Amino acid sequence: MSDFEGLTALVTGGASGIGRATAELLAGRGARVAVLDLDPSGVDKPLLGYRADVADDTSVREAVAAAVADLGGLDVLVNNAGIGAQGTVEDNDDTEWHRVLDVNVVGMVRVARAALPHLRASAHAAVVNTCSIAATAGLPQRALYSATKGAVYSLTLAMAADHVREGIRVNCVNPGTADTPWVGRLLDAADDPAAERAALEARQPTGRLVGADEVAGAIAYLASPLSGATTGTALAVDGGMQGLRLRPV
Ligand code: NAD
Repeated sequence: MSDFEGLTALVTGGASGIGRATAELLAGRGARVAVLDLDPSGVDKPLLGYRADVADDTSVREAVAAAVADLGGLDVLVNNAGIGAQGTVEDNDDTEWHRVLDVNVVGMVRVARAALPHLRASAHAAVVNTCSIAATAGLPQRALYSATKGAVYSLTLAMAADHVREGIRVNCVNPGTADTPWVGRLLDAADDPAAERAALEARQPTGRLVGADEVAGAIAYLASPLSGATTGTALAVDGGMQGLRLRPV
């Protein structure tokens, strides 16, 4: 299946986890793919790697311009780079709030701003933002992170409205806990990583974490012409975490 034959894609945070799985899936299905990342040193052919910090507008503009020139245009933007934050509103000071909002929210805005002029020239333009179940779930100990993902969700809807008549679709995916290096780092920091992982898995309706490749599959669907009539939506990829109630209430 070559859904992306002849199309080009840009994936931020594409050197690791969900972004990497997405870049590899799109390339495997025929797209030419550029990865923007703080550390693109591990990005191998056929993927093209560019160093960029989404928190730095100049760095984003330069990297997007270079990537689009090398790709020869842009059809798909996967706005995926993001960082975590733990705690309640009392645990993070203003500096930390600004830092995480700047990466997770304004970072997506910067990349979109640089990419939109190129997306307008595409006949199959699609933007997919990596959001999270944290946008709507009310997770404990995730006040700052949840606020950033709530903003990503609203941004997705607003961008979908602003650009629908330009033929640019904008959607997001809401992953649950996905088995990526990020989650690996959190588990490694626990006293007993194996026990922590087992407890995390037991909390999932499916009894396992979401695969990065499964999030990539949802992103690829929303990025592909197969979803041509879908814009302004959030697709949950959470193993049933939000939708299912496994115990009677
Ligand atoms: P990851 O840490 O494995 O990968 C994130 C990538 O983003 C890394 O390659 C990192 O270098 C890059 N990055 C970070 N800050 C950057 C910056 N300022 N500029 C450019 N690149 C930067 O993480 P992941 O788990 O694959 O997460 C990817 C996205 O998925 C994030 O937006 C995250 O919020 C979201 N998400 C993850 C999960 C999960 O459980 N893993 C769940 C829901 C949503």
